[in-house]
Amino acid sequence: MKRVSVRQSPVHGKGVFALCGLRAGERIFEYKGMVTTWREAARWNARRDVSGHTFLFGLSDGRVIDGGRGGNGARWLNHACAANCEAVEDSGRVYIETIREIAAGEELFIDYALEIDQQTDDEAQREYACRCGTPCCRGTMLGAGAVETVVVAA
Ligand SMILES: [Zn+2]
Repeated sequence: MKRVSVRQSPVHGKGVFALCGLRAGERIFEYKGMVTTWREAARWNARRDVSGHTFLFGLSDGRVIDGGRGGNGARWLNHACAANCEAVEDSGRVYIETIREIAAGEELFIDYALEIDQQTDDEAQREYACRCGTPCCRGTMLGAGAVETVVVAA
């Protein structure tokens, strides 16, 4: 049974929405895409107009999953500082799991905690500004340190 769908989001572009109530800790779907290096992905994406939507997902081994190539609906997950889902890395694959109960119709969010290659200058800060609007919003999709994925022992 399909539990989520992709449609226009009031936060930004497209988003992923629950079609039914979800329990905490449910594995929703895999974050699919081409596994590549940051450098290659940055070069490939720079040639296309993908500004504003981030389809790159950092893996713990330093590579990325590029959801823009061979990706699925998971690439439309928007960022929120108070996310209701998290990305769980399991044997080199990434799954999106709920971290609390989600009602039917609610949008699903993950905290990107992005790590970008360049200096975090003003331009980058603007490009990755957060619009989640929650009280704990830190105003940016950038993380303090490394990309935060939870590594599950195989
Ligand atoms: Zn925010």
